[in-house]
Formats: sequence, C-alpha cells, structure tokens
Amino acid sequence: MDKLVNGKINSTLSRRIIEVKGIVQGVGFRPFVFQIAGRYDLHGWVLNTSAGVQIEVEGEQSNLLAFLDDLTMQLPPLAKVDNISVNEADPVGYQKFEIRQSQAKFGEYVSIAPDVCTCADCLQELTDNHDRRYGYPFINCTNCGPRFSIICDVPYDRPSTSMRHFELCEACAQEYGDPGDRRFHAQPNACPECGPRLAFMGGKPLHIMAGDPIELTVQALGAGRIVAIKGLGGFHLACRATDEDVVEELRRRKHRYGKPLAVMMKDLDQVKRFCELSPSEEKLLASPRRPIVILKLLSKTVITPSVSQGLPTIGVLLPYTPIHFMLLNACQVPLVMTSGNISEEPLASTSEEALDKLAEIADCYLLHDREIVNKIDDSVTRIIAGREAVIRRARGYAPEPILLPEKLPEILGCGPEQKNTFCLTRDCHAFVSQHIGDLENLSTLQYYERMIDFYKRIFRINPQIIAYDLHPSYLSTQYAQSIDHVQLVGVQHHHAHIASCMLENGITGQVIGIVCDGTGYGTDGHLWGGEFMLADYRSFTRLGHFKYVRMPGGEKAIKQPYRMAYGYLYSLYGKDLSCFAKYTDTIQDEERILMEQQMDKQLNAPLTSSCGRLFDAVAALLNIGRTVRYEGEAAARLESIIDTSMADSYDFALQGQILDTAPILKGIYNDVAKGVLPSIVAAKFHNTLITALTLVCQQIAGLTGVKKVCLSGGVFQNAYLLEGLLKRLAGVGLEVYWPQKVPTNDGGISLGQVMIAHYNCR
Ligand code: ZN
Ligand code: ZN
Ligand code: FE
Repeated sequence: MDKLVNGKINSTLSRRIIEVKGIVQGVGFRPFVFQIAGRYDLHGWVLNTSAGVQIEVEGEQSNLLAFLDDLTMQLPPLAKVDNISVNEADPVGYQKFEIRQSQAKFGEYVSIAPDVCTCADCLQELTDNHDRRYGYPFINCTNCGPRFSIICDVPYDRPSTSMRHFELCEACAQEYGDPGDRRFHAQPNACPECGPRLAFMGGKPLHIMAGDPIELTVQALGAGRIVAIKGLGGFHLACRATDEDVVEELRRRKHRYGKPLAVMMKDLDQVKRFCELSPSEEKLLASPRRPIVILKLLSKTVITPSVSQGLPTIGVLLPYTPIHFMLLNACQVPLVMTSGNISEEPLASTSEEALDKLAEIADCYLLHDREIVNKIDDSVTRIIAGREAVIRRARGYAPEPILLPEKLPEILGCGPEQKNTFCLTRDCHAFVSQHIGDLENLSTLQYYERMIDFYKRIFRINPQIIAYDLHPSYLSTQYAQSIDHVQLVGVQHHHAHIASCMLENGITGQVIGIVCDGTGYGTDGHLWGGEFMLADYRSFTRLGHFKYVRMPGGEKAIKQPYRMAYGYLYSLYGKDLSCFAKYTDTIQDEERILMEQQMDKQLNAPLTSSCGRLFDAVAALLNIGRTVRYEGEAAARLESIIDTSMADSYDFALQGQILDTAPILKGIYNDVAKGVLPSIVAAKFHNTLITALTLVCQQIAGLTGVKKVCLSGGVFQNAYLLEGLLKRLAGVGLEVYWPQKVPTNDGGISLGQVMIAHYNCR
C-alpha cells in the first residue's frame, strides 16, 4: 500500500510503536535503542516511563524488521525483557532519532536491576595506566556496577541513589549526557575527580592512615591481620585463606564455629588450582551475578582446614567490584571473605556501624564514602543435576522478580523464621526479597520490617492480602498478625514449600509433593518435615509422612543430634538397650534418664516427622555429628562422606504411605556394631531414602493418576539425594521438578505463601 509522506509517495515507509517491559532501566537500554535506530537509519524516539521503555521508530520496512531483530537478540548484558508489544502505524515524518525526557506514569513501576560485577570494558580501563580511571576503585558503566544496593527510590535516577552526594565533574557529565558513550545515564558514574574515595583505618589507636588504601590493606592482610572491608551490599571480614592461625582467630572473634567460610579467588585459573570445576560451575562462577558457588576441593590444597571445617567442599566466589579485583591481584593468595556481622545479625553497612559492631573482630578497616542504602549478602548457589540451584538468593539476584503464570493481586508473603525472605506480588511479578536471615534478634526483625516497607514503596505495592506461616511463635507470623484491615491467610509450611516449587516451574494443577525438611508447624500441632502430599495452589491432602518419633528435649535436639539418635533407639528397644551399650555409654546417665522420662511422660518430647532430624540421628549414630553448631551440619557431613560406589541399602517399612524409619535405624546400628565404615553406612542410608521415596511416589501416582512430582525442603540441598531421586523417579515414568531459582530451603517459603493465599482469596 502506498503512503504519502512529506508530500512524496513512498511505498515502503512505516512506523512501529513499541513498549518494552522488564529490567530495561539503568542498564543502557536507551543508548542501545539509539544505536540500533542509527544503524538502520530509523527516525523517532525512545523514553523511560515508570512502566518500562517506550519507542517509536519509522523507516524502511526491511530496516524496521532488522531493528526489531536486534532489539530482541542483541540486548545489553544487564537488560532482561519480559514483554515487548509492537504495533504498526502510519509514518508521521520524524526527522531524527532522539532520547526524550522520562515520563512518570502514575502507580506504574519498573523492575530494578540487581547489583552486577565489574564488566570487561571497565576492567580494561581499570588496568590501563593511560586511562583517567586507572586504578579507580569505583569505576562502573551502564553495563556494570551497583544498582539495588544504592537505590533509595524510583525512577532510577542519580538524585534517588546514594550517588546524589557526588556532583559529576565535567568529564563525567559529558559521558553521562552522550548517548554514544558507554556511560550515558550511568547513574553511579564517577571518577577520581568527583566520585567516592577509599580510606584505610589502622594502627592503635585506630586512625586514618596516610598512603594508598589498597596497598595498606594488602600489607595488613599479608601480615596476618583481619580487615573489615566495606563493599557493595555490606561489610566483609577478610583474611588470608592460607593462614590457619588467622582463620582460627577470625572464627574465635566472630563466634562463628562450624559454618564454612566463603573464599574469594583471583580468577578461574586460581580456582582450578584448588577446586574441581565443571563447565557449568565455571560459567556460574564467572557470571555477572558472581554468586558464591559450592565447589569440591582438590585433595591437595593450601586452603587451610579451618575454612571448610573438614567438609570436602568450599564456597568460592570471584571478585565482583573494582576493589576486589585490585586486592586479589595484589594479594596473590585466596582471601576468606565472610559477612561482616556478629553471627546471625544483619550485615554492617555504614562505617559507624562497622567501627562499633566489628571492633572486637577487625584489626583494621578499608572504608569508602558511598552509602550502602540496601544491605545485601552474597548469594550462594550450587550446581545440582547439571543446573544451578540457588541456596541463598541475594546480591546479583534480588530484587529481580520471579515471573508468575498469571496476574496476581497485591499480596505479601511474610516468610518463615529461619533463612527468611518475604515476597510481594503485583501483576505477573513476584518480588522475592533478598535473604534477610533468621528472625531471632531485634536488629534482624527491624531490618525485615524496614525492607518490607522499602519494597512496598519502590514497587508501588499496597498488599490487601497477607500470608503467614501457621507457626504461632514465628516473629514473621506475629508481624503479619499485627497488621489491621487486611485479609490474613495462614499457610502450612510444607504446602508453601511445594507451591513455591510448582510456581517457579510454571506448574498448574495437582502434583505429588515430597517434602524433606527440617521442621515446620503441622496442622495437627506436631512438627512436620517428611511429608507426602497431593497438592495444588489451593489446598493439600497429606497422604503420608515419615512416621512420627519423639524429639527428647524438643528444640534442644536440633543442636544435639545424639538426642534424636537416642530417641530413635529408645522407641525401638525401650529400656533394653544393652546391645547399644557402646552408644549409650557416651551419654551421661543423668541426661539419659531425663530423656527417658521425657519420652515416657511425653513431656518436652514433641512428635516429629522431620526428615532433617532423621539425618541428624544417623549422623549422631555414626559419631560424625553428635552435636552440631548450625542446623543442617550433620546432614552436610553425612552427605560428604558417602562412598558413591556403594549401591546397597537398608530395609524400610511402608505402611500405607507412612514411612517407618525404624528398620533403617536398626540396620544402621547393626552395621555400626559390626564396624562397617561410616562412608558405607552413609551411602546405604541415602540409597534407602531414594528407594523409599520413589516407592511412595509410585504408590501415590497409582492411586491418583497424578504424574508430576515436586521435591522441596531444606534436605534437598543434598545433591546425592536429589540427583539420585531425580534419576529414579524419571526412570519410573514420573515428571520431576525441584526448586532452582528460589531456595529449596526456607528461603523459598514466601513465594509459595503468596500463591496459596491468592488461590484461597479468589
Ligand atoms: Zn562497566
Ligand atoms: Zn568525574
Ligand atoms: Fe522448611
């Protein structure tokens, strides 16, 4: 069809009106559009709205098609497009292509990019002694640098970030205003002239020391000091990972015993010197999100044993800020980089906070004057069954939304008590917060409430429905119940685990849910944690579970797995424990009698179906986790010793869909009594669970015709168990799903809660 343009007949000119949604602001999207419009000689404009990016282009048909191709296929590295709408229209005769003034749309919102590691271009400039940013520790561009951690409000513009205190110098302002420049509208743009600076505090009494702060830090680390380093989302405590004395000292000062410490390594080559590295692990480690990846240590290593506390794995991360790159390059040895907090409290994020709270831990400080607005920990991930499974979702991931299969009203899921995250929904987006932590102290609770307010404000969400865990004493539950004039929905913990897994895998309809977890509050008042259910988003039917056993001493049994082991033995054999003399001898008589009384009188010995507690009991019997320093330690140690060449398993009993674990414990004790190696017992135990759970799924599938299985709960962080089960379930013709984008542990609860609340309020 011929069209009249500027008085001439033109047969091929056309116009497109394009709307793009997703992570498209603060990521160099407009200059990218500007460039490709120029490439194809198209005229029109692009602008940011509070809903995303709007584009109008006109020109030759073939050029428009090429433009659309590039627009979708050649995105800037940090951009993530959820939705593009393209409408055709008659040309209006634009004479040039321009970037127009941003437009606010009332009530609309845009996704905010997570913080991203320094890009290759910036790294090149950082090390180029002719560049004006040579050695500048805050170098960044539209493709990299801080985002979420510096933002106070939207739209994402410099005045609403912590960069507002730094006025751009002429050279930086020039880059900032030039659509052809890599730093066009890079909000954190800075240089040594105008941007943030480092300072090193050391000596006694503590004072700011003259000299290059990076060099002083390297010297301090080299001399075996512990340095508190202000980073992107909070403080790290750093020391040499090859020096046993200083790592021990760090643990002692931080009161952090047991949990492994993360180690930052210079580059992939260095990682390969210390760890086994598969291609998918390599890719994940070097991805712009830069998570901590759990890797297998090589047997010969100079990483000191205190770092991983005897586990054969280690959490490794690569440098992700210019400061890290410079430090690691200068240090040559890997550095322990653990969260700068007193154990279980939120990260320190201001210099004052660090100087106050880390005073007993750090010898010296590397500080800077760019404010951290939103604290965010390092993320932790692991490759399981060839895919990434996020264990702690924080920096580099949050607040990127999880896409929902349908539009949801505005809902808040308050999350659980341990490993808390919360979740807010709007339209097709679920904003799962960064890892908040354990809501057991006042400062974490305050941080939790502050972050909920922040997410509500920044994503323009005012939830009318609030979902909470049924556990009455969780602080997140109490928080939900303190809110007036909203609809409150209580959600069973393990139902939420399964819903979360369903949601991120895009499943609708019914599934067989297998939950292997620590503990969660059951609808019968007992502590659940090994659950077999038929579930959808609305409700669940508990078809079976691990048979109840007593936890002598209640909560105490979590930190003291020998109690669980004794509980199992006692319920199996009563007072006739003569054959277990070897085991029971190691428990003080007084304590043993007290536990027996607790069990007999059913006082402070709650019933539990927890799978996690079964792992604890087995580890205790094997004498590798009689007491633990964090929940899940016993299970981690048990997994770590498995002899993978062992295919045998133990007997178990399935009564209906109730899995009686007593025969497993008997088998294990007999093996232990015979002196069978723990590595063999651990393998047989895992194999037994894989066989038993496969049988449970087959039975439920036979009864119900449902073929989809969702596996969720903290125990599935265990790669041997999960991979084994995936293989077996697929082998019997079932479709298996497991959490990857959100944690399988309690970090994924909040996502499940919102979906269940939605289905119960429609
Ligand atoms: Zn960059
Ligand atoms: Zn500047
Ligand atoms: Fe849980």
